Parts: sequence; structure tokens; C-alpha cells
Amino acid sequence: MHKRYERQSLLPEIGNEGQLHLEKSRVLMVGAGGLASPALLYLASAGIGHIGIVDGDRVSESNLQRQVLFHTSQVGKLKTECAKENLLRLNPNIHIELYSEFLSAENAIKIFSEYDLILDGTDNFETKYLINDAAYKTGKPVIFASVTAMDGQIALFHPTHSGPCYRCLYPSQKNSRIQNCNEAGVMGSVVGIMGSMQVTEAIKFLLSFKRESLLVSLENFMITLDARDMTFFKRTILKNKDCGLCSRSSHDVQLERPSFLCEMNFAEVTHETLQKDPCKYRLIDVREPHEWRLNHIESSENFPLSQIQSTETIDATLLKSKDPILLYCKTGNRAKTAASLLFQRGLKNLSLLKGGIESTQEHI
Ligand SMILES: [Zn+2]
Repeated sequence: MHKRYERQSLLPEIGNEGQLHLEKSRVLMVGAGGLASPALLYLASAGIGHIGIVDGDRVSESNLQRQVLFHTSQVGKLKTECAKENLLRLNPNIHIELYSEFLSAENAIKIFSEYDLILDGTDNFETKYLINDAAYKTGKPVIFASVTAMDGQIALFHPTHSGPCYRCLYPSQKNSRIQNCNEAGVMGSVVGIMGSMQVTEAIKFLLSFKRESLLVSLENFMITLDARDMTFFKRTILKNKDCGLCSRSSHDVQLERPSFLCEMNFAEVTHETLQKDPCKYRLIDVREPHEWRLNHIESSENFPLSQIQSTETIDATLLKSKDPILLYCKTGNRAKTAASLLFQRGLKNLSLLKGGIESTQEHI
């Protein structure tokens, strides 16, 4: 028996056989944020042998209040790479596969097919629907969770196992009341509770091969938490016979492309750094043409945000760009939106000028 796992292997529900099974298991975490922080730590420490992490975002300072997997020194770095570094420091005996991109209709099936179980650690509805639909198409179970303010939800969906799916509960986004991303505040420790519950259910699910097991899966149930008075409520979720997804054959399901993803965090370059090596970047000003004509940074090109938003494709010269692209606007907000849109369309190596053109004003 591996000393590291001794205390959990002693549990009759796990035992040596169960522990060896966990070490052979493959679990995918979609989103490396607040839910994933405790979830990944507990998956790694329990010795789940193969862990996949999907996220294209970078660590930002405002993440640290709840994304306790990351350190202050990792702000600006890719979440996937920081997570791997920290998790392998905790347990070097496991294998971690990184997908440093956002889950999309194009990559979901291929990634999901590599895993036994999917954990949802995302914070927006469109990706939750995509996870649900891709999991149904690949026959994989999903442990969903979400947290808003001091309210949490968790459920295990396995529709190919005759259970309900996320769309049985929330048929479409119009029916779901929970806000996206940054619209509402959130208490970090409540996210921690829900992420820890996801791993507890994940381990129970992985151990369900044991015939004599007394563990009861969360399949067909949802647990809600109101942390204001610490009330947990467990309710049954029924399969909807007319569900837009799981009443159909999985072969007929077409994945929808999320039209909205939460704004991402990008590496920021200060004006001082830019001045030291002005030729290193291709400078793109995303303000409108009338603003660009008034003033702009020398050698910058004008690709207005309104133009980026109104077209589905990326300008061919941007796609072919060999230099890293540095985007700026007046203070930084439009550049961030533009970078998110360009990233979603496949452009990598993007960074933002910290503070926008206002940070350079005295130099123009
Ligand atoms: Zn359904």
C-alpha cells in the first residue's frame, strides 16, 4: 500500500482495490477557476492517476480571492501551466494533461473521449450547455457545479445511463436565472465547499465498480446550498421525456458553438517595457478611426473594436503576423474585449498595453 494514500485506503469503501482503480482513472476538469482549485487539489492528492485541465485563461489578481490553487507570483501566467506546476509539487506520482484553450464545439468531443468522468468548473451557461451536450454525445458522466453569491448547486448527470441531463433541468438559457461570470459577487469559501463536493462525488462515482459498495451516487439528484443559513437541500431531478437533448439519439446531436465566453485575462505589457523594445510587438489600436486620427502610438495599426465585433473572421494579415500582437485602446477595456474575441477565433500570442494609450500620453 502506498503510504501517501494510506489514510483513505483504510476506508472500507475504498480499500487497496479502490485505490488502485483511482490511480488508473482519468478525470477531466473543464475550467481552472474557483471550483477547480479545491477540486484539482483533492483529485491530485487522492491519487487520481490522469487529470486533464481545459482552460485558455490566465491568472488575474481578482481570481486569487477564490482560486486558491494559484499564488500571487503567478498573476499573468496561464492557469493550466500554474495548476500543473502546483499540483505536481503536491503529488508527483500523477499525470496531468493540459489543454490551454477554451472548450469549443470543435475540440470538446476529442478531449472528452479521453476521460472516464468530466467535472464542470465553468462559470458561464453557454459552456455548461456545451459540456452537457458533448458529454451526452460521448456517453460520459458529468458532475456539474455552480456558485453565485452564497448559493451553490451540484448534480451528477449521466443521461446515457438513463438519467436526466442539464437540459432536462434547464432546457435553455432563458430558463436559467443564475448570472454569468462577473455579474454577481461570490464568496470564495462557498466555491470551495462545492468544488470539494465535486471531488467527493467523483471518487464515489469512480468506485462504483465495487459491487459491495454502500456508496450512493448523486445521479438523479441535485444538492443546493444556501450558505447564509447553511441549509443543504437534496432533490430528485426527473428525466424530461421531451428533453431537447437526451430524448434524441446522441448521433443526431449537433454541438452549438458558444457565442459568448466570459472575458479572459491577458498578459499586460507596460509602456516602459514597450519603450525598451518597440519592435518586438505588432501594435494594434482598437479605438475608432476618429480617435486614431487624433493621436496614436507610432507604428500602430488601426483595427477598431466595432469592426472586430461585426465580423466573424480575422483579418488575414493579423493571422499571418509573426510578431506577438499588443492591443491597446484608451484605458484598456476595449482592448481586452477585442483580445477575447480574437483569441476565440484562433489568434494566439496576444497581450495588452497596461493602462492603454493614456499611460503613454506624456510621450506622444
Ligand atoms: Zn435531458
